[in-house]
Amino acid sequence: MNQVIHLTGLTQAELAAFVEEMDEPAYRGRQIFASLHHRRLRSFDEMTDLPKEFRGKLNDRATASTLKVESRYLSEDGTRRYLMKTHDNLPVETVFIPEERRDTICFSSQSGCPLQCSFCLTAKLGLLRTLTAGEIVEQITIALNDAYGTGQKTPRGTNLVAMGAGEPFLAFESLMKALRIMADPRGLHIVPNRVTVSTAGIVPRIRELATVTDRPHLAISLAAPTDELRDVLMPINKKWPLNELLAACKEFERSLKPGERFTFEYVLLDGVNDGDEHARQLANLLNRHNLRAKVNLIPHNPADPLPYRPSPPERVESFKHILESKGVHAFVRRPRGRDIYAACGQLAARGTANPTPPTRHQLA
Ligand code: SF4
Repeated sequence: MNQVIHLTGLTQAELAAFVEEMDEPAYRGRQIFASLHHRRLRSFDEMTDLPKEFRGKLNDRATASTLKVESRYLSEDGTRRYLMKTHDNLPVETVFIPEERRDTICFSSQSGCPLQCSFCLTAKLGLLRTLTAGEIVEQITIALNDAYGTGQKTPRGTNLVAMGAGEPFLAFESLMKALRIMADPRGLHIVPNRVTVSTAGIVPRIRELATVTDRPHLAISLAAPTDELRDVLMPINKKWPLNELLAACKEFERSLKPGERFTFEYVLLDGVNDGDEHARQLANLLNRHNLRAKVNLIPHNPADPLPYRPSPPERVESFKHILESKGVHAFVRRPRGRDIYAACGQLAARGTANPTPPTRHQLA
């Protein structure tokens, strides 16, 4: 792949400059952009509106796709997980979650992850590599093509969440560029307002995101109401402890639009962080910082060799009730795709017994 440029990771302006360097008019760049992102084509040979000779030159210098779908897993609840490989043979996972009103695609920002959250299977891989903007965009294209077919409009619109493998704020440049490319009305046209980025708490990037005019929504994974416990569950807390994290959130709050709230994610681990006292501590912490936030409670998704069990339903309810009684908006997130290792914290390039074959759209 050396010297070969992945055109999916270029903006329209960059594509225009790229074709001009090849002595072609700038509008050819716009044509390629529309083919890659609006029609979601994954090879130059399918772009039959381009002259054949030009397609040949493109094939020599560039590529339209670098990810290959290795396996596709279909959950009994309709969730699909894709295990893909990069050109340098690293795993990338993406999850498509069909929902009543709108579908959601959960994408990865890194192959593996350098953070060591103790409840997350991805952590076991360590960091393999940060993904490029093109690799991020291509995950969305592949999932949409599988669901709706190449070039077909998505009937219900799509929400994106950066909650797959990796810490998105450690892939900040790739992520922000991918979001700009995907927001382009001549392409996928998925605007940042339909994107949520979930971080383990990289404080400088929270501050930086607050300064971005057209920015995605923010979610922060908390997992514990005290530094003592969070240090164990999410070691990134030793670098940016709760008070610093929540102070950055308070600053971020100034950038919220009317009616917008950001989200705290709280994974519930049986007997570890799900007691009534933890709920009271969490409510007090958020109230002390006077944050306009909601809390998503996520029952842990068990996976060997993680040492945790999910909290029983009555514990989840009690936790939620205590938060609400103290004025904190709380919701319980229904786990999706647990049976195919597609749920939160389960992405670790795993196979299961019965992958369904990739469709022809993915094999380009
Ligand atoms: S929870 Fe997220 S940040 Fe933590 S190890 Fe897993 S992928 Fe990385």
